[in-house]
Amino acid sequence: MTAGGGTGHKIAGHAALSLGQKLVPFEYDPPELKENDVRVDITHCGLCYTDVHGINDDYGITKFPFVPGHEIVGHVTELGSAVTGLKKGDRVGIGWQGRSCMSCEWCLSGEEQLCKKVAHNGAWEPYGGFSSSISVDSRFAYPIPSGMHSEVAAVLLCAGISVYNPLRSNLANRPMKVGIVGVGGLGHLAIQFAHALGYEVTAISSSPGKKDEALGFGADHFILANDRETLQKLELSFDMHLYTAHGAIDWTTLSLTVRNKGKIVMIGFSEVPVKFEPLELVVHQQSITGSFIGSRAMMREMLSFAQEHGIKPKIELMPMAQVNEAIQRVKENKARYRIVLVN
Ligand SMILES: [Zn+2]
Ligand SMILES: [Zn+2]
Repeated sequence: MTAGGGTGHKIAGHAALSLGQKLVPFEYDPPELKENDVRVDITHCGLCYTDVHGINDDYGITKFPFVPGHEIVGHVTELGSAVTGLKKGDRVGIGWQGRSCMSCEWCLSGEEQLCKKVAHNGAWEPYGGFSSSISVDSRFAYPIPSGMHSEVAAVLLCAGISVYNPLRSNLANRPMKVGIVGVGGLGHLAIQFAHALGYEVTAISSSPGKKDEALGFGADHFILANDRETLQKLELSFDMHLYTAHGAIDWTTLSLTVRNKGKIVMIGFSEVPVKFEPLELVVHQQSITGSFIGSRAMMREMLSFAQEHGIKPKIELMPMAQVNEAIQRVKENKARYRIVLVN
């Protein structure tokens, strides 16, 4: 299958041709390089549930044929006329956001992830990272610290920034307790970042088998999500819970553990039975809020913080050609904890 009528070198990708379909090999013409863009030859691309949501058009913004992939690492091969700070051959990484309008109030204040045109900011537009090459706005292509493995960087660009941003933004100058709800692709990184940032970390999971690993990642405590007795003893004690779980968790008991003015921060698109007690929320001035990836400045900070503190996701490497098998593993919640596809 090919797209476009141009001549010359085609890009080899993997696309879903229609809603919910398996990916098939798909060739297309290289998108035109705008003045601020770079073209990047892709060596690694992570896979996460966001790609599955895209294939299923769960956000209502997918255009088919759809080439997923938004945790991209590779080398710069071509630069637009206005690009500064990068050169051919540089190793760079690109997360979900591949561009922004650079002119709305959020972009101007340095919070590009909140751009008013965010639905069109995906690096996977027009075609994503399950490809041999991609072009994005160079201002969203981040130099990877030397010494950091490309597959590690790929995962940090999505899961890493998603957990680092709320942990870093809510840090205060006093001892703080954070609960990481869910020990999966996001959670296992959140534990590492929270520990390195100096939080007292409690991992909360519905899988007893994840206890040793959670403690190994740096959690100070481990609580089973259905252990109501232990959670009730922790009434009003957590500054924040980072909610990364997919499955149903006793939300009412969880919210009772949040201290005055504390927060529950959602970072995945998990379906949760949001049943909370308005009385508690009001009396303790608690918040339930969300957090989405992070700004360009936060991304740069996160990459160097991760390198400095040796923070590493647990990764399964698979060849790009096995993308459908990889998607199946993610759908079945079998990836431990993240899969990176290698070209
Ligand atoms: Zn992702
Ligand atoms: Zn904007």
